Amino acid sequence: MGAFDLIVVGGGLVGAALAWGAQIAGANVVLLDEGDVAFRAARGNFGLVWLQGKGVGIPPYMHWSLRAGRMWPDFAERLSTAVSFDIGWRQPGGLQFCFSEAEIAKRRDIIARTQADGGDIDISILDRADLRALLPDIGDEVVGASFSSLDGHVSPLYLLRALQLAFQAAGGHYRPGFRVEHINAETGAFRASSQIGSVLGRRIVLAAGLGAAKLAPQMGLSMPVKPERGQIVVTERVKSFLPYATNCVRQSVEGTVLLGSSHEERGFDEGTDVATTAALCRTAARVFPALADATVVRSWGSLRVMTPDGLPIYEESARYPGAFAVTCHSGVTLASVHALEIGPALVQGRLPSHLSSFTSERFDVHQS
Ligand SMILES: Cc1cc2nc3c(=O)[nH]c(=O)nc-3n(C[C@H](O)[C@H](O)[C@H](O)COP(=O)(O)OP(=O)(O)OC[C@H]3O[C@@H](n4cnc5c(N)ncnc54)[C@H](O)[C@@H]3O)c2cc1C
Repeated sequence: MGAFDLIVVGGGLVGAALAWGAQIAGANVVLLDEGDVAFRAARGNFGLVWLQGKGVGIPPYMHWSLRAGRMWPDFAERLSTAVSFDIGWRQPGGLQFCFSEAEIAKRRDIIARTQADGGDIDISILDRADLRALLPDIGDEVVGASFSSLDGHVSPLYLLRALQLAFQAAGGHYRPGFRVEHINAETGAFRASSQIGSVLGRRIVLAAGLGAAKLAPQMGLSMPVKPERGQIVVTERVKSFLPYATNCVRQSVEGTVLLGSSHEERGFDEGTDVATTAALCRTAARVFPALADATVVRSWGSLRVMTPDGLPIYEESARYPGAFAVTCHSGVTLASVHALEIGPALVQGRLPSHLSSFTSERFDVHQS
């Protein structure tokens, strides 16, 4: 087989979104994924498309995230149509609950800073009476919330599956079990090699989550990502009570309730612990006391993909033009722009100029 137009390394949410977007933009793409042995945030996340407060104080990130939020309805529609199943996307708006007036004041500050930076998002403060009108079962300790109609949620597993299926349905080549170990620049092309073979592509993008840190230096790139553990608890299915996305409780389309998620520095440990799951349950029961009677059926730990400042990396290698790095810690939220803007941009061989502040040079550890 000749060279592909684009090799995508990593079949998690970032890689799968890029691959689908590039394939439907007309490229011949191969998506290489290590498989079930890898750390995969894509399979353990909370499923929020969360915009309120995102990127406050960092306008390029805020505007990019808001763009992603606005593109989600079109993205979800196109993806669901391509695979003919419901990916669980809903955009009912999102609520961030507050337990004190001090927390409400912080939310007001976020709204003011968002407006000061020109953020095109409506965020309002709801007092307890407003909130009770929306959610009669809300707990007595909740004094209010901030609300944004742009926030939504999705089933992360359906999203990942849909991206992989839609990519293949559009003619993309999906290679699971292909752990890339070496990447070499050959004349006008890149060769990605694993123990089971190699593929050749005119361009390559490293989107391998935590696996990208090791590969990037081979392409003169730097992706200094580290894991941050998040634990999530899931209850049995209960009757529908929560039509909104929220910062700590989410009811799936099937009726289960997700409680989450923690933020922990635990290296590559994907485990769970009782203290953390108990804390997640306690917070959820403060917000919705009736949840105290729901049976917990599962909990898990999963690793976020974090850069040193928590912002994404979008970069083309100066040493090897045609080799790109893409990573972020909100791969659900940004899936729309990754598919519909970055995927096609990779086909053109040029990242959008408004993302130029997201190179790894900001970490001052650039590989020469
Ligand atoms: C607890 C938790 C809650 C979260 N909640 C949200 C949320 O509500 N909203 C949101 O937007 N984001 C959320 N996230 C983040 C989101 O899940 C990630 O941003 C996203 O999954 C990152 O996608 P990724 O493709 O970069 O990495 P991953 O999903 O980790 O995928 C990386 C892929 O690369 C592959 N790979 C690795 N090394 C190699 C190699 N050498 N060769 C080939 N393939 C390789 C792996 O097999 C894997 O499939 C959450 C994450 C966690 C952990």
